[in-house]
Amino acid sequence: MPVLIITFGSFIRKYGTQCSGCSKGIIPLETVRRVRNLVFHLHCFTCFLCNRELATGDHFFLMEDEKLICHTDYYSAATTAIVDNGKFL
Ligand SMILES: [Zn+2]
Ligand SMILES: [Zn+2]
Repeated sequence: MPVLIITFGSFIRKYGTQCSGCSKGIIPLETVRRVRNLVFHLHCFTCFLCNRELATGDHFFLMEDEKLICHTDYYSAATTAIVDNGKFL
C-alpha cells in the first residue's frame, strides 16, 4: 500500500491560504488579517509606503494591486502621481 509522505510546508502551499503580502502559505491556526477576500499575516499587513503595521481600527486603503496604504500616506500622497494614475480604489 503506497504511503504518501507530504511535508507540512508543501501541504500549506497546496491546500493552505496564501498571504497576499508575501505570497507564502498561512498556517491555519495563525492569526491573520482579512480584507475583502484577501488574507495577510499580521506582520505582512503593512503600509507599502511607510511599512507601518496596520492595527485593528487603523484607517487604511486597499489599492487595486492588493497593496495596502495607511490613512496618513494616502492623504499625503493625494497630490502625487500615484493618485493621478487612478490606482486607488
Ligand atoms: Zn505574509
Ligand atoms: Zn503608511
